[in-house]
Amino acid sequence: MNQDDYNALRARIERAYAPATFDKHGQTAVALMAEFLNGSQHSANAVLNWRAPTSNIEEAQALLNDGADVGELIQAIFAHGQTIHDPRYMGHQVPAPVPMSALFEAVSSLSNQGMTVYEMGPWSSAVERVMMQTLGEQLGLTPGFGGILTSGGSIANLTALLTARNIALQGTWANGISEGRDKAVIVAHGESHYSVERAAGILGMGTHNCLKAALDEHSKIDVAKLDEQLHSLRAQGKTVIAVVAAACSTRTGSYDPLRAIARVCKAHQVWLHVDAAHGAAAAFSDDYRHYLEGIEEADSVVWDAHKMLFMPALSTYLFYRKSANQYQALNQSASYLFDANAMLSEQYNTGLGTLECTKRAAAFSLWATWAVHGKQLFADLVNITYGMARTFARHMLQHPHFQLLNEPEANVLVFRYVPSALRGADAGVIGAFQVGLRKRLIESGEFYIVPAVDRGHQALRMVIMNPLTSEAEFAGLSAALQRHAEQMLAQN
Ligand SMILES: *Cc1c(COP(=O)(O)O)cnc(C)c1O
Repeated sequence: MNQDDYNALRARIERAYAPATFDKHGQTAVALMAEFLNGSQHSANAVLNWRAPTSNIEEAQALLNDGADVGELIQAIFAHGQTIHDPRYMGHQVPAPVPMSALFEAVSSLSNQGMTVYEMGPWSSAVERVMMQTLGEQLGLTPGFGGILTSGGSIANLTALLTARNIALQGTWANGISEGRDKAVIVAHGESHYSVERAAGILGMGTHNCLKAALDEHSKIDVAKLDEQLHSLRAQGKTVIAVVAAACSTRTGSYDPLRAIARVCKAHQVWLHVDAAHGAAAAFSDDYRHYLEGIEEADSVVWDAHKMLFMPALSTYLFYRKSANQYQALNQSASYLFDANAMLSEQYNTGLGTLECTKRAAAFSLWATWAVHGKQLFADLVNITYGMARTFARHMLQHPHFQLLNEPEANVLVFRYVPSALRGADAGVIGAFQVGLRKRLIESGEFYIVPAVDRGHQALRMVIMNPLTSEAEFAGLSAALQRHAEQMLAQN
């Protein structure tokens, strides 16, 4: 390369890295984010900006040209997505994040601290360690616990079950699962998150060996039946890798009786894994922490900060009751990273226990939000959303058209909307009506709710993931459902 070419190249690079430009773009970005937040909180726009995938793909492609304006790109993102901060968003378990957390995500990205070994991110490793310890204590775990941060509850469930498998079937990590294949099973809550069954597939046990634990009428593990199931599996010569309990379950938000389940697991000497991705945050609430009674007896626990701690995606805390077990998951050596002669004890090298090598510094936003607002904020967020689900449930029970299908423990409601004209109709017809109703509702952009299945038939589901969702939204939803239901009935 001649000097002129190098200079031109260097100038282009410097333009991309110029601090002054970054400052300017940053001001634009923050102003637009604040404006969007304000509009969202006041329901100024659609909740879901529904367009066919092809239209969005075309527009995203069109914007992919040189010299696009930063503000224009940000506006496109806001204009065509889900408006999570709109109090009419009551859909999937994705929270309206505490706004300041987004700023720390940006700080985290700019500083780009790798996390594999301590020296790649001394401060991010320290912050992870502090939040791990603080959340574990909040959960009531007993001293000696340990854990790691991972990218999401699915990976955390996989990692915990990998650990359980390596412990139950010694030698599998190095030799493969062939010897244990015909006997290894997982027994999971009958409506466990799909990542649990996937883990059985990925671990080489086969998804058919992810067995369902029987549930009672409240969608909780039936403890007496679990005990029988474990007896019977042992009689068949099976090795139960783990029992997976839910705190709370995804579909209905029901908390399993953890203390009783732990007792059964102990008697059978089986690893207890608690998927508390959604519901662990109840630990902050004086009103709801009793649902987690017994969680300290679990061998491993998963807690997503990007669910009920109202952090942006993605950060998950995976706890082990015995700290040393975190090294059982990925029992290998990468000597160039994890040097036995290193300056520090291996316990500070987070990469030893994670599937990830490079990992985002995912604890900054929670650490900063806690530091600024105090832990009361997390209690408040749980109390207001769990409380609002109960308020919605009361309104549903009083309303002639709502059929409430669960008794909410968390912030999840499963229901059907059945106008008088459909009362007594075939369950399949009523189910199909729910599907049609939801399609109209979400395409209109007025509200966002999700589908569910209850006793084999279609239903509707909502999760109060926005602390600003109030009774006004229930009134609005009820009116919107009535209007769409009337239009559907008129068309038939
Ligand atoms: C969300 C969730 C998961 C999956 O976590 P991701 O972070 O989405 O991968 C697993 N289990 C439960 C109970 C959940 O709520």
